[in-house]
Amino acid sequence: METVPAPLRCLGECHAAEKFTDDGVETVTSMEQKKVERSIQEVISVYKQMHSFPQPTLLRDQHYQYLKKGLRHLSDSYECLDASRPWLCYWILHSLELLEEPVPSSIASDVCQFLARCQTPTGGFAGGPGQHAHLAPTYAAVNALCIIGTEEAYSVIDREKLLSFLFSVKQPDGSFVMHVGGEVDVRSAYCAASVASLTNIVTPSLFQDTPMWIVSCQNWEGGLGGVPGLEAHGGYTFCGTAAMVILGKEFMLDLKSLLRWVASRQMRFEGGFQGRCNKLVDGCYSFWQAGLLPLLHRALFKEGDSTLSLEKWMFEQQALQEYILLCCQNPVGGLLDKPGKSRDFYHTCYCLSGLSVAQHFGNMDLHHQLIVGQEENRLVCMLTSRPICHSYHPVYNICPEKVARAIQHFHQLPVPMENRGSPASSDHS
Ligand SMILES: [Zn+2]
Repeated sequence: METVPAPLRCLGECHAAEKFTDDGVETVTSMEQKKVERSIQEVISVYKQMHSFPQPTLLRDQHYQYLKKGLRHLSDSYECLDASRPWLCYWILHSLELLEEPVPSSIASDVCQFLARCQTPTGGFAGGPGQHAHLAPTYAAVNALCIIGTEEAYSVIDREKLLSFLFSVKQPDGSFVMHVGGEVDVRSAYCAASVASLTNIVTPSLFQDTPMWIVSCQNWEGGLGGVPGLEAHGGYTFCGTAAMVILGKEFMLDLKSLLRWVASRQMRFEGGFQGRCNKLVDGCYSFWQAGLLPLLHRALFKEGDSTLSLEKWMFEQQALQEYILLCCQNPVGGLLDKPGKSRDFYHTCYCLSGLSVAQHFGNMDLHHQLIVGQEENRLVCMLTSRPICHSYHPVYNICPEKVARAIQHFHQLPVPMENRGSPASSDHS
């Protein structure tokens, strides 16, 4: 166990030297970058003035109140917001589990019943009741149900129909479309691999040619684009890499160039991550980018790389924690993209997920903590040594005990038969 002593990295004398230099060529991008750096400098200066002994605090109670209100609103009223309600359930439930805040069983049961209404007759889940099945809310709904982790939650999922939905969106080249008649991108492969592996419905042909298709999304930058030929992007890179880990094929990626790309996305001055080259820092990439490092550490370890650290991931864990704690917290609860932006459940979930990754290192039997600020800032560790959970990486982004419990539950059930000529695929073709 280790507590990082003051002073903070962002209060150090050398910190200003990390600011962006435009080499005398001012562009729209460079002006935006400087504007963000000025706003972060301002946050740091104010913090410094107010704290003679700097110990940034995670505003646990405020975040809890914000999340609790969101969850109650979801369960009280089903006609709010947009077509992403299973996502809201997942973001809130995962944030609460990271904060170790239990969900009352009556609310958990309401969420199960609500998600059951989002499940479509052809299998898979929609963004809301009565809408069409889509892989993104399917991923969110399955994750949310696995976090709840009760018999009631597991029994919501119709596995036979889920499998036929997955076949209905599978493409001949190994990729998946997000919904019948929809667009292909690498998120869909991850969503499919995640829900299929958690619920034990992986059949021999379901992911045939998928790893080769995902590999083709890795470009010259080292990261992955949404489809082959597109610019590398943090969200797509996490999805593609995590899908490869779930499918046991991560070795097919160029891991070294991927590592180089993701390590270069951590901002020198801000401490947080950008999603793409030349873009601005954003709190949600604390997970999409930093979450890649445990995946890569494990993959390189499996390849026998003897130079790997036994204490740290290959990014600046302290700097990321400082960015999240100082720049991404709304004082009345909820987390956000960057100073000046408003809070939302998406950023709350992925800032907290990234904070957990930055606090806990693990590999094989090792666990090493690095907590910026007080010990109370510590979030739940998303790593586990249990092989059943694809050990030591946050590949599903739910807590490992819940992954283990879901896998244990669904592995007692037989894998459904492949039924690719089902109405789910022929109805819409
Ligand atoms: Zn964001």
